[in-house]
Amino acid sequence: MRATVATVHLDRLRKNVQAVQSLLSPGVGLMAVVKANAYGHGALRVAQSVLEAGAMALAVALVEEGVALRQAGIDAPILVLGQPTVSEVDEAVANDLDIVVFEPLIFKHLTDPQAAGVQRRARVHLKIDTGMGRIGIFPGNLDPLWLERLRSPRIALEGVMTHFANADSCGIESTTQQMAEFLDVLELLRVHGLSPRYVHAANSAAALRFPGAQFNMVRVGIALYGLEAFAPMPPSFSPVMSLESRVTYVKAVPQGFKVGYGSTYTTPGAMKIATVPIGYADGYRRAWSNNSRVIIREKEYAVVGRISMDQLTVGVPLNDAVEIGDRVVLIGESGGHTVGADDLARAAGTIGYEVVTGIANRVPRIYVD
Ligand SMILES: *Cc1c(COP(=O)(O)O)cnc(C)c1O
Repeated sequence: MRATVATVHLDRLRKNVQAVQSLLSPGVGLMAVVKANAYGHGALRVAQSVLEAGAMALAVALVEEGVALRQAGIDAPILVLGQPTVSEVDEAVANDLDIVVFEPLIFKHLTDPQAAGVQRRARVHLKIDTGMGRIGIFPGNLDPLWLERLRSPRIALEGVMTHFANADSCGIESTTQQMAEFLDVLELLRVHGLSPRYVHAANSAAALRFPGAQFNMVRVGIALYGLEAFAPMPPSFSPVMSLESRVTYVKAVPQGFKVGYGSTYTTPGAMKIATVPIGYADGYRRAWSNNSRVIIREKEYAVVGRISMDQLTVGVPLNDAVEIGDRVVLIGESGGHTVGADDLARAAGTIGYEVVTGIANRVPRIYVD
């Protein structure tokens, strides 16, 4: 196996599940969001661990992600968060996946007694757009026809849900506004005798910052992986993924030596250049050229020169013993130093979500417990 691996610490994952649960009000269920291969951590292993640790349901983005979990034997409820096409909807229902409804054609397809394809009762979650502006029906469009169809015997109304746009930032006003709209919808449903089993609105940030938004289920992703849902995170969370490689080559070079594509780094004095076999095709982004640090032998070193597709270079003082085969920590901690996915994200002007989901499939995941 190649030297570059992502280690997924399942013990930390389970601790993060407990950390989330300790912040939930009694009776609030945890739906663990495992979309995008569990944010790059590996959907199946993560799903198994979080369910063991007490999550009651899973969420994915795509029907195919849900089908893969079903085929691997996961029998917990799985909600598909994204909007499937009509043919994907049939596949979702056939695989006992819960789906979001808000799109009239798909809703009609599901509830139409004449519709071909749908074999069993679809478990649906009504998705309300209270201000995210992405998918979901506007509260004002929940007309009598919709309310009637929600009562169709062809569907089971499992949930009603919305999604916040600003729970992670200073968005108290906008979150409060979205809450008010959502509460109006809940009241409308109640008045019409509709009582979905689950009411859910909160992602990680909202679940942790706005207990009033927990209702009876929360959809938590990023916090389970120990990354920032907002900053700073409570200390009870720790990052689940670390990224490591090994030095493949070390060379001593004189002052004024130029390194890498574009010769963007010139050595300020005689030093060593260590090469590490990871690059942007592995998800170690080119934006970190001359702009990130790694840990070798419990010391931090700067990445120098451009990140290439498959390799990067590290600047090492002449007197430091860094040798071929030495372990390189690109994300993680060692010897009291830490390089977090969130730190790297800030350096590249992005968020930790994008860093971990961006770790390529060609990087093997190793699971430790
Ligand atoms: C991804 C997603 C979540 C989880 O968000 P985190 O910030 O990772 O907790 C929750 N709800 C929906 C609709 C999502 O798409």
